[in-house]
Amino acid sequence: MGKTDLIQRIIIKQGDITRENSDAIVNAANTSLLGGGGVDGAIHKAAGQELIKECRTFGGCNAGEARITKGYNLKAGYIIHTPGPVYKDGKRGEAQVLKNSYWNSMNLVKEYNLKSVSFPAISTGVYNYPKEEAAEIAVKTVIEFMEKEKYIADIIFVLFDDDNYNIYNKTLGRLKDELH
Ligand code: ADP
Repeated sequence: MGKTDLIQRIIIKQGDITRENSDAIVNAANTSLLGGGGVDGAIHKAAGQELIKECRTFGGCNAGEARITKGYNLKAGYIIHTPGPVYKDGKRGEAQVLKNSYWNSMNLVKEYNLKSVSFPAISTGVYNYPKEEAAEIAVKTVIEFMEKEKYIADIIFVLFDDDNYNIYNKTLGRLKDELH
């Protein structure tokens, strides 16, 4: 399947990722995997107390890696936890680490044979990653994964803030134009 077909599998919506009923949702976690603020806090709150018990069994996770747990009280069956990079100046490998977060999350989607996955805009909150650059990495990486790994899923980007929602729409539109 070519990139033009794969891009059609991407949906952009605005909202709260904890309410998604995709097979998995992705959590922009921190390296402790023990919960935090932002989307991480919202996911832990919505999933319930059992989640942290399972998260403790991992003993943390490096930035760019990913771990999977059950979804507990969420509609989604699974939660994929990935700490994105903390953005400093863009010269410390931040782009590669952000790419790894999307790639390694998709690896778990494939491994668990999941048909749909919802992503937040990883690292664009407290971790300060510039939103345009992060959106481009997010969209390009999931397309590249599906193409190279020959594994297709519905990809839903769930954006909380207006800024990211507008940026993702623009980014996807631009990539569609480039491919035509
Ligand atoms: P990070 O530490 O990776 O930057 P944050 O949680 O601070 O993680 O922010 C990541 C993104 O998640 C931000 O764009 C923020 O607007 C968004 N976000 C916060 N709460 C939610 C939510 N409930 N659903 C989806 N996205 C959310």
